Amino acid sequence: MSWQQRINSSLSTQRYNNRWRKRCIIDKNNTRLIRKGKKNYINFSSNDYLGLNQHPLIVNSWKKGIDLMGTGSGSSSHIIGFSCFHSNLEIQLANWLGYSRAILFISGFDVNQAVINLLTKKYDHIIADKLIHASLLDAAIRSPAKLYRFRHNMIESLNFFLQYLCRGEILVLTEGIFSMDGDTAPLKNIYEKTRKNNSWLLVDDAHGIGITGAEGRGSCWLQGVKPNLLTISFSKAFGIGGAALLCDENTADYFLQFSKNLIYSTCMPPAQAFALQCALHLVQKSESLRDRLNENINYFKKGMKSISWKLIESSSAIQPLMIEDDNEAQLVLTKLAKAGCWVNVIKPPTVPLGTTRIRITLTAAHKFEDIDILLEALHETNH
Ligand SMILES: *Cc1c(COP(=O)(O)O)cnc(C)c1O
Repeated sequence: MSWQQRINSSLSTQRYNNRWRKRCIIDKNNTRLIRKGKKNYINFSSNDYLGLNQHPLIVNSWKKGIDLMGTGSGSSSHIIGFSCFHSNLEIQLANWLGYSRAILFISGFDVNQAVINLLTKKYDHIIADKLIHASLLDAAIRSPAKLYRFRHNMIESLNFFLQYLCRGEILVLTEGIFSMDGDTAPLKNIYEKTRKNNSWLLVDDAHGIGITGAEGRGSCWLQGVKPNLLTISFSKAFGIGGAALLCDENTADYFLQFSKNLIYSTCMPPAQAFALQCALHLVQKSESLRDRLNENINYFKKGMKSISWKLIESSSAIQPLMIEDDNEAQLVLTKLAKAGCWVNVIKPPTVPLGTTRIRITLTAAHKFEDIDILLEALHETNH
């Protein structure tokens, strides 16, 4: 098959399977509300859980960062791209989370790829939760290491693989809060099992950081564990973008010496690192926003008690409503949009076949009356 034929045939299969992915153009977004064309929607699709996206202090610090250092970093961190803003942010992150070192990356996707790419070699083993994020899974599939997948959050299943693989280095992958189901990993159990086995544990806490644990330190802190590798993203609770790897001294140096993602890619803009310091400070102090978020989550869940679709058990901001059938989900989406609520349908292959869902995300920016409108529309659609 030629490239052209392959492209054409993939596209027609995608269309035929009803899996066509579309980007839509959003004209305005303040987290609580978005505008598309002439219509406003209450936004239940944002990962900006604390609503920091337009916080005046963060906006101003980004502007000030530009005044001081310009718009871009100018090169990779190994040439002249690494500034005092980056360095201070790394130190603050490491101190905050109780690690020796933090290294900044351009995105959560990038840091996960970088870790798997550099760390795992032939004869190593990766044991991943069945539902880990595509950024980890994709790298794990392409890694020369052998990949095993344990049943979602099932410690017995993880244990089976740990005992069955008695040789070689083993890296266990899981998330703090799962991005598609919103549930929490039993990190304490997983941590103890992997430690006993001399395996390494990587926790991706993109959805937990800033949200749970004392001062927003995330899922690991909350469950009292310190995995060998912790990856966090600043694209969710921090409301910005960028990411970091938390690890020990030698591992950090290993990445600085050998990670191509770091050496051959331009460092994040210094102004962004400056704004991230401001966001970190706010996140640490945002107990009231975390309380607001939790109030909204509980309010929503209470209102969903009498609905017949199954809400996946989740106490996080991610509340997936299991619809199963693609067409029905699309119908619900259309009806919710008509009522002025913006939600997302998540279909296979992002989630397993037959588990198509409406993924509702709540934020601290929502008001109870916003949630009332969503609940009313959902009840009207489901009878
Ligand atoms: C969003 C997300 C990522 C990717 O982070 P970005 O900074 O958006 O690239 C990685 N892992 C998980 C679990 C996520 O939810």
